[in-house]
Amino acid sequence: MIHLRNWILSVWIEQDSSYNEKSSWQEFREKGSFVTNTLNRHHAVYVGSFDPPTLGHLDIVGRGAEIYSKITVGVGINPDKKPLFSAEERLQMLEELLSAFPNVEVKSFQGLAVNFVRECGGGVMLRGLRTLTDVEAEFTMSLANRTLASDIETVFLMASEKYTHISSSLIKQIAQLGGDVAAEKLKDFVPKRVVHPLIKKFDLKNSP
Ligand code: ADP
Repeated sequence: MIHLRNWILSVWIEQDSSYNEKSSWQEFREKGSFVTNTLNRHHAVYVGSFDPPTLGHLDIVGRGAEIYSKITVGVGINPDKKPLFSAEERLQMLEELLSAFPNVEVKSFQGLAVNFVRECGGGVMLRGLRTLTDVEAEFTMSLANRTLASDIETVFLMASEKYTHISSSLIKQIAQLGGDVAAEKLKDFVPKRVVHPLIKKFDLKNSP
């Protein structure tokens, strides 16, 4: 495989009349769709609604923190949406949950995710993939983001097998069951820190 790749590369180089001794990877980059990058490729930014944070989200952050020297978790504030938890609540939960990671910080943001990534100085947008539906949606979004900011790369981590079925919306449905039943079931989906606030939200909603 490696031989074949090297052979293809050498044929391509021979056929490219513009190639000469002085050509370098840098020149190739400048000619192509690459741009000179001043953003930090070792710093990844993981954005989402986190309404509420789930075990799946934490898994992505934890694995990301082993790959990148810094991870910024960005809690998105969308004025057009009415989240279950306020931005402050989501921020506080995530800060507590991720306090054990020295290279992870949590911030909130409004507006375009790529602008937030750039403001943070990160060169990578980290995303998680659960299902084929995620692949389609995330692929489209990453292409749109690349058009908006070609110097920011989107990197995907596959969800861990045991968390692929977890989504914030499913969790809210379970929490609606209320009481001890929901509390017991939710432990498989969200960190313990999130179980009580989640049940409380729905108890408050259902109280007369
Ligand atoms: P949004 O509301 O923007 O979809 P989410 O908080 O639901 O934000 O998700 C943020 C990111 O985390 C997305 O890339 C999503 O695919 C990923 N994600 C969500 N749940 C999981 C999970 N259980 N395992 C892995 N990745 C996940």
